[in-house]
Amino acid sequence: MTDVRLRFYNTMSRRLEGFEPIEPGRVRMYTCGPTVYDFAHIGNLRSFLFEDILRRALKFFGYDVTQVMNLTDIDDKTIREAKAAGLGIREYTDRYIEAFFEDLDTLRVERAEHYPRATDYIPQMVELVKRLEAAGHAYRSDGSIYYSISTFAEYGKLSGVRPEANLTGARVDSEEYEKEDARDFVLWKKTGEGEPSWDVEIGPGRPGWHLECSAMSIDLLGEEFDIHTGGTDNIFPHHENEIAQSEGATGRTFAHYWLHAEHLIVEGEKMAKSKGNFFTLRDLIDKGHDAVVIRYLLISVPYRQKLNFTFDGLHAAEQALERIRNTLRRLDHTPAAERSGELESAVVEEFQHEFRSALGDDLNTARALGALHTLLRQVNTALDGDGISEAARGQLRQAINEADSVLGIMPEAEGGASGDDEIQSLVDERTAARETRDFARADEIRDQLSEMGVVVEDTPHGAVWHKKN
Ligand SMILES: [Zn+2]
Repeated sequence: MTDVRLRFYNTMSRRLEGFEPIEPGRVRMYTCGPTVYDFAHIGNLRSFLFEDILRRALKFFGYDVTQVMNLTDIDDKTIREAKAAGLGIREYTDRYIEAFFEDLDTLRVERAEHYPRATDYIPQMVELVKRLEAAGHAYRSDGSIYYSISTFAEYGKLSGVRPEANLTGARVDSEEYEKEDARDFVLWKKTGEGEPSWDVEIGPGRPGWHLECSAMSIDLLGEEFDIHTGGTDNIFPHHENEIAQSEGATGRTFAHYWLHAEHLIVEGEKMAKSKGNFFTLRDLIDKGHDAVVIRYLLISVPYRQKLNFTFDGLHAAEQALERIRNTLRRLDHTPAAERSGELESAVVEEFQHEFRSALGDDLNTARALGALHTLLRQVNTALDGDGISEAARGQLRQAINEADSVLGIMPEAEGGASGDDEIQSLVDERTAARETRDFARADEIRDQLSEMGVVVEDTPHGAVWHKKN
């Protein structure tokens, strides 16, 4: 098993590469976070779940992870929305930062080590602008400071966008006509009437969007780090501009591996508020969908493939998850077989190898989930036959728990899913009634369980129950 290595598709080299961190055993990773002016939609959340799987997989492979995710609390949108709400920018964005963390918790996304807010890093951004000015990469025009693309020969190396072809597509800002070159982007922006502004050494203004990621990653991870992630829509111009800023200032390779999650579409179409197919996590939960089912669906497609979110898919995810839970309950509540049972430890080891290989294969979550379902089918077959010994059960449980340290889809360890304890005590009461030949009471309990959607089976190993699919 030790020969399985992690390989990632690096957007920079456009090929799969074996992963080697700068420092052995330790990974420093930067993730472009949300702009906190509204609730995150499921397309954003798909990216954040990819990053969660990446982080958990790195830990599964034995690395210590330091992850930074920025919170963009100052840009055109936050300024506009805060103004419309009649609130200060801090007060306005505080609400959406809180909502963002609630969503992460709901989806069982592990916390990063650092969540820097852009407005807390103004001194670091000013410092970076000064370095870029000193290195000849920046110029001033009508109160703003711009990055001069023509001074950075490698511009376009990540996205493949040739600078000469790039006359559109850059983030449009109102000072566009003041730039020497339409491709240049703003580092420090002259502020308009009533906009938040910082009176600093480089002159009054506010940061451009790209600047914060370079300044905060350098401050928290160093000038050179391992992995930079985001959605494919970040590749150009955002990540290209981050590279120009960071490498222009430091002269060092900014990030060694660039990983990007593909888009999510809904029922085959681009998600848009105007089409009525735009969903936040809250919308789906309000419709009665379970958060873990949503997590399952969003991680079930490998991150570099477009994910077509459908309600049929959500239903299928619910059934897949219920099959997993039923098998685990069956495994827990079936008395151990006296003999060694049919399930060999080779089956468990084969699963562990396949699961690790799937993750190592550029985080192939579809293959990893496939391995889990194959294992659980084998568990069911063994339980239908000679049963599973106590030793094999322990080994299985451990392998499944290890896999779930990456997937995050199993019932919570404490007491299982809500209601499971109540069901189990009813099943136990029914068993006791049958033992005292109180069949009327036993049947009554069976009916009660049936109304709860629970089926009880009397097997040679005792009564086991599962929820109806
Ligand atoms: Zn960024």
